[in-house]
Amino acid sequence: MADLPPIRETIARHGLSASKALGQNFLLDEQLLGRIAAIPGDLAGQRVLEVGPGPGGLTRALLRAGAHVTAVEMDARCLPALEELADAFPGQLSVVQGDAMKLDHGQLMDGQPFHVLSNLPYNVGTALFVGWLSGSDWPPQWLSLTLMFQREVAERIVAKAGTSAYGRLAVLAQWRTTAKLAMKVHRSAFTPPPKVMSAIVHVRPGAAPHGVPPRTLERLTEAAFGQRRKMLRQSLKGVPGALDALKSAGIDETRRAETLRVEEYIELARLLG
Ligand code: SAM
Repeated sequence: MADLPPIRETIARHGLSASKALGQNFLLDEQLLGRIAAIPGDLAGQRVLEVGPGPGGLTRALLRAGAHVTAVEMDARCLPALEELADAFPGQLSVVQGDAMKLDHGQLMDGQPFHVLSNLPYNVGTALFVGWLSGSDWPPQWLSLTLMFQREVAERIVAKAGTSAYGRLAVLAQWRTTAKLAMKVHRSAFTPPPKVMSAIVHVRPGAAPHGVPPRTLERLTEAAFGQRRKMLRQSLKGVPGALDALKSAGIDETRRAETLRVEEYIELARLLG
């Protein structure tokens, strides 16, 4: 196994001061990074897409676990440090400089199944997450997603009906996947520490319920949660057929968006077609 200097030293040697504009908060604790890399299970010989490797703390942990990593990083300053890692783990790491929001991930991974691990700036992370969940092909090409989020966002992703965190993101995340809060990460684990606490969400694709058009489900949750304090008979007024669907599904139209379980949204979307 490659003998590497501590990541802190790599950062200092390459002058990688954290850029606020790029949302850079680095993880330096190799034990913690090892635990994060272990969340998806045994990665030996598996393909991994890592978005935003920065100086490569998580990348090292993935390489040590035996993964074949494609790392997409926007900040050109990080490339020499990542190239050093590629040399230390021959044939295991390819580095792509670019904006992960603009790349076709499936193509980047040669059409092969892959795991995603990432500690991203929060805005980019949420946008990519929604993209990975919204694909029309199901099961998707990705085998699992292991992503760092601001803790509140992580709680919204795994929230259950009847809680204030439950909303569109929960339904989108849960209707054809299993989403778990895998680890809470204290702000002090990062350099520099962000203002908020973080948590890692782990998602695995499940079977897509039969006959549910993703766009219909999206429209439905957008309308319902767009007016979450209102009764469904009011909030769903603008969705053609929704009030009849409520009746057919035996859902009381005086209920509010946050009381409907994911399965009830699925049933409504199926009825609407
Ligand atoms: N993975 C490293 C770690 O855990 O220490 C760095 C995490 S830092 C929070 C986020 C990284 O994502 C930065 O290196 C930043 O340059 C990179 N980044 C930000 N936006 C990006 C984008 N759109 N595409 C690719 N990388 C991006």
